[in-house]
Formats: sequence, structure tokens, C-alpha cells
Amino acid sequence: MRTISAVATPLRRISTGRQAARRCFSTSHNLQATWGFIGLGRMGYAMAKNLRAKLPADDTLFVQDVNKAASSKFLEEHATGVRVAENVREVAEKAETVITCLPEPQHVSGVYRQMLEPATLLKDSSTTKPRFFVDCSTIDINTSRSVAELAHSTGQGRFVDAPMSGGVVGAQAGTLTFMIGAASEDVERATQVLSMMGRKVLHLGPQGSGLAGKLANNYLLALNNVATAEAMNMGIRWGLEPKALAGMLNISTGKCWPSEVNNPVPGVIEGAPASRGYDGGFGVALANKDLKLAIKAAKEAGVKLALGDHAKALYDEVEQAENCKGKDFSVVYRYLGGKE
Ligand code: NAD
Repeated sequence: MRTISAVATPLRRISTGRQAARRCFSTSHNLQATWGFIGLGRMGYAMAKNLRAKLPADDTLFVQDVNKAASSKFLEEHATGVRVAENVREVAEKAETVITCLPEPQHVSGVYRQMLEPATLLKDSSTTKPRFFVDCSTIDINTSRSVAELAHSTGQGRFVDAPMSGGVVGAQAGTLTFMIGAASEDVERATQVLSMMGRKVLHLGPQGSGLAGKLANNYLLALNNVATAEAMNMGIRWGLEPKALAGMLNISTGKCWPSEVNNPVPGVIEGAPASRGYDGGFGVALANKDLKLAIKAAKEAGVKLALGDHAKALYDEVEQAENCKGKDFSVVYRYLGGKE
């Protein structure tokens, strides 16, 4: 008990309930609030949908995606309360709270530069209150810090990193977990915003800390996935029955998420991607992207990694292999020649 609470202390967990952010952020006299969502992809589209559903009917949500088909579809699906912005600067001009959900670091820095430069955002728009930016993308810590610095140093807004876990299924169900990096004065507002798209918000420390937690987790996940595939492969080659082997591992010290929930051997866990041809799940390209970001951030911080580069080389090959491309990352087992 003691150990758990000692470990848990720095991790401030905020239970979110269903109390949505309401009028408290509004700046206009009739209390209607304006919101922005940029990046309507696999995650963002469903998140923006949940956000719109939980917002008061008279609030306005401005959406933007370089893929115009995504914005148009979103507009078609929402008869009221949604407007498509011409560009991301317009989103920042019109919305008090802006959420971004973009693929990679260069997209995040590009979008924030367009929103924040020239640094006349507050003068160019009707709402002079500093904006509240929440970035849910998985990117590297340094890029996120420099974007935050751009917002903070120019006084144009507050910036919080809020990477997430739970995948597309969690985004659709509104059950995501967000790991946030935020100054203490921004935590409550970020929690209220994110609780409309997810179930848990974990405050890990100052800006950048959400990404630090997310990348450390996904580094471990990427390695556990390879180790599980190797261990299952060797046990099966030595003559063990796959379910018996997995059952033993999962009550022993080798137990981990890939062995227990996402076992890479077809038929071991019903409903796992491996049991449906490795379709769906956590794409091998995304897993590799997160691994690359974690290795880069670790190197920047002078952290010595024994396994990262080896795993990265393996994922690079798996990602390109004809029978593995586009599949769940547990397909590493197939790449290693595991019995299916
Ligand atoms: P995605 O590629 O499906 O969606 C990204 C969207 O951003 C696309 O619609 C794209 O057109 C849009 N976009 C790109 N550049 C833009 C720009 N300059 N302006 C406006 N829109 C732009 O990606 P996703 O799966 O939704 O993931 C988004 C982020 O969430 C990534 O960083 C990813 O690593 C992270 N994430 C994804 C998952 C998952 O299961 N898909 C889970 C957790 C975290």
C-alpha cells in the first residue's frame, strides 16, 4: 500500500466524471463559447464528434483539416453548431479553446506557427482573451516545448500537451486516457476540456510531461511486443501448446500487455488482432513512429538505450514487409516466422 501511494504521489490523477466544461470559459456577453478542432483523422474525427455532442447547443465548433473531405463530412453530419474554417489561423482567431490532433511533429509545429505568427492573434480577432491550446498529437518533447514557448512568450495563449491512449475504439466511445503536461494553473481547464472526449486525465507534471510519459510507455510497449513474440515463438518451437504457454506466462513474471491482452499468436486470445489476420489494433507504422520519437527524445536527454536501436531496425523491416504492412504491431510474430 505504502509503496503504491509513494509511487502514485507525483502522478496527479483527476477523475473527470461527465461534468463538461461549461460557460466558465466563455468570453462573450451572451455566454456562448467558441471551440476549434484541427485534424479530423482517425482519432480526431471521433473526438471532435464527442466534443460537439457534449457542448451546449449554442456553442460553436470551428473545424479544420487539410483534407477538405473530412471537414465537409463533419459539417454534413452536424446540422448546427459547426463551422468549417478556411485555415488554421481562422480557427485560432475565432475559437477560445483549440484542440489539435495531428500526425507528426512537423505538422504540429507548422499548424501552430500558422496560428501564432504573426503574433497579432488577439488583435486580429474579436475575442482578446489568450487562447487555450490542447495538443493531443504524439510528438517529441522538444517540438512540443518550442510550440508551447511560442504561445506563452507572445502572450497569445496557454498550451498543454495531452497525448492519449485508447486507440480509435476509445476515441469513438469517448473513453480515452489523456496524459497531460501542464502548468498547475492550466490543469483544471485542460481536464474539463478533455473529459468531453475521454474518461481519465493524468497530470504528469509541467508542459512536456504528458509526452514524456506517453513516449516512455510506448517505448516499453514496443519492446515488450517484440520480446513476447520471441518468447512465444521459442516456446512453441520447443513443443509447447500456445494457449498453455500464454496461460503460464500470464501468471508469471513475464506477463505484460502484449502477452496478456494482445498476444501475437493467432488463436491464443479471441478478439486480439492476431486472431483476425492481424487486422485493426495498433498499426505497426504508428508503433514504429512512437518508438522513433522515444529514441530521439532519449538521445537528446543523454539517456543510454541498450535495446531501442535494435528494435527500431526490426520495426523498420516489419513495416515494409509485404505480409506485415498496415497490420497490428503484433505481426512482428509473423515476421519472425512464428507458427500461425
Ligand atoms: P491520422 O493521420 O488519421 O489523422 C491526422 C489528421 O490530421 C488527418 O486527417 C490529416 O489530414 C490532418 N492534418 C495533417 N496535417 C494537417 C494540417 N497541416 N492542418 C490540418 N489538418 C492536418 O492520425 P490519427 O490516427 O488520428 O492520429 C493523430 C495523432 O494521435 C498522432 O500523433 C498519433 O500518433 C496519435 N495517436 C493515434 C492513435 C491511433 O490509434 N490512431 C492512438 C493514440 C495516439
